[in-house]
Amino acid sequence: MQTETRVGFGYDVHRFGPNTYEQGLVRLCGVDIPFDQALTGHSDADVGMHALCDAIYGALADGDIGAHFPPSDPQWKGAESHVFLRHAAGLIAKAGGRLVNCDVTLVCEQPKISPHRPAMRAALADILGVAVSRVAVKATTSEGLGFTGRQEGIAAHAVVSVEVPRSDDAAQAAAVDALMAGGLLE
Ligand code: MG
Repeated sequence: MQTETRVGFGYDVHRFGPNTYEQGLVRLCGVDIPFDQALTGHSDADVGMHALCDAIYGALADGDIGAHFPPSDPQWKGAESHVFLRHAAGLIAKAGGRLVNCDVTLVCEQPKISPHRPAMRAALADILGVAVSRVAVKATTSEGLGFTGRQEGIAAHAVVSVEVPRSDDAAQAAAVDALMAGGLLE
C-alpha cells in the first residue's frame, strides 16, 4: 500500500482569568501545574492540547476543534481536553493512518514549563497511543513583548506529521489536464 505524509499546523490562545473548571492551576498538555492564575475557557482550557488537536485536524483537512466540539454546545462545558485529542487521534486511525510525530510549543513567561516537559510528553503520548519519542513539547517566552509577554494569557503552536494511505487526487489530475489543454503546461 502506498502512503503519503501529511503535515498539519495548529494554534490556540487562552487568557488568564476565571475558569469554571478549576482555580489555582493551569492544565497544559494534560499536566496540572499549580499557578496563581487559571486559564479561561469553556473546557479545561488546555491550550497546548487544543493546538495539537487543530494540527491533527489540519493534517487530515477535517475542520477544526470548534467545528467538532462547538463552544456553544453545553455538553462540552468543563470538558477535559483529552476527549478532544482522543477524537483527533481516532480520526487518524479511522483514515488508516498513523501519527509520525508531533511538536508543541508553548509561549508564556510563567509558569515554567521545562520541569513538566517529561510529564507532558508522557501524557500526550498516552492519549495519542504513540511512543514518547514521537512527541515533543517545547516552551519559549516572548521576551516580555505582546500579550504573552504581558502575562495576559498563554499561546500554543503545534505541528504534526501524519502518514495515511495515498489517495489519488482526481481533481488535481483534472486541473493539470486543463492547463495542458490550454497550452499553459506541456
Ligand atoms: Mg482552545
